[in-house]
Amino acid sequence: MGEFDLIERYFWRRAGEGPHRAVIGNGDDCAVIAPTPGMQLAVSTDTLVEGRHFLSTVNPARLGHKALAVNLSDLAACGARPLAFTLALTLPRVDQDWLSDFSQGLLALADEHDCELIGGDTTAGPLAIGITVMGEVPAGHALLRSGAQAGDDIWVSGWPGEARLALEAFRGTLHPGLMPHTFDAVRMAMELPTPRVTLGQGLRGVATSAIDVSDGLLGDLGHILRRSRVGASLILDALPISAHLQERPSAEQLDCILAGGDDYELVFTSPPNQREAVRALEQQLGLLLTRIGRIEAEPGLRLWRGELDQWEGDPALKPVDNRWTSFDHFKGTP
Ligand code: ADP
Ligand code: MG
Repeated sequence: MGEFDLIERYFWRRAGEGPHRAVIGNGDDCAVIAPTPGMQLAVSTDTLVEGRHFLSTVNPARLGHKALAVNLSDLAACGARPLAFTLALTLPRVDQDWLSDFSQGLLALADEHDCELIGGDTTAGPLAIGITVMGEVPAGHALLRSGAQAGDDIWVSGWPGEARLALEAFRGTLHPGLMPHTFDAVRMAMELPTPRVTLGQGLRGVATSAIDVSDGLLGDLGHILRRSRVGASLILDALPISAHLQERPSAEQLDCILAGGDDYELVFTSPPNQREAVRALEQQLGLLLTRIGRIEAEPGLRLWRGELDQWEGDPALKPVDNRWTSFDHFKGTP
């Protein structure tokens, strides 16, 4: 099977199938798309490399899902609605079973979010998947990292930390190991993350800043703090600890939640007068949203034990040393 047969068989939709957002779609030199008047395009790229971002043994349908999910998560963090994506695929060989499963997982998530595959590139080499996703957002209303204000609440969606627990189980570093049912559940969090696309759009006009958690909650919150030129206090006792993480030693729980990464949950800030709006979104989406701290004018990140509404100066709050650093692909390399 040649390159073009492969592309056509697995990645192009037949004429008449599905929505056609591209004026000219796959098969031409460029895809040409018409943005909706009054909207801005939000564009983001993420690449997954074998051995670095996924294990060679991963189910290809799940890999297809995850490759698009991590990109949709960036659109979510900007409050954008998905429109279209391109796929740069590097394959060591043509394995039709693999391609069939991979494209099914990929295109199923694309359909779920009405996000059209409009083009790409296919080459031979070590397995890698690069996706560029495009979305739209009303002009001037994209959620940014730079909008957090002193006094804002800090929120996180869902149950961060499970993906890291699964990764450590695969690495064999957990003592005791995971129970089989726990392993199956957290493995889903790692291999089939849910991008918080509807939440992101719902946060437009509610949140002052947002980011998706790919490298760890503390590290990604740190990006908001630096870009917004503010600091923050987090209350560790307020963090959402999933039932699976609750089975684990408490130090491990914190490692996974604060520095785990690969969660694709959203961390966002919003003023206290938006708490009801955030709670309404939580109800509407059936997605846990947890207030975990607040933004402060003083730079830096402070961690506390205690109750969420007792802030600095209150002897009931105990400071905790920050021993967590976030993941960096090039840390330790020359
Ligand atoms: P060119 O040489 O003009 O860059 P290519 O040979 O790379 O074109 O690709 C031919 C067509 O197939 C283009 O429209 C391109 O967007 C599309 N395409 C290539 N690879 C993929 C892929 N993995 N998924 C979807 N479309 C693809
Ligand atoms: Mg090309």
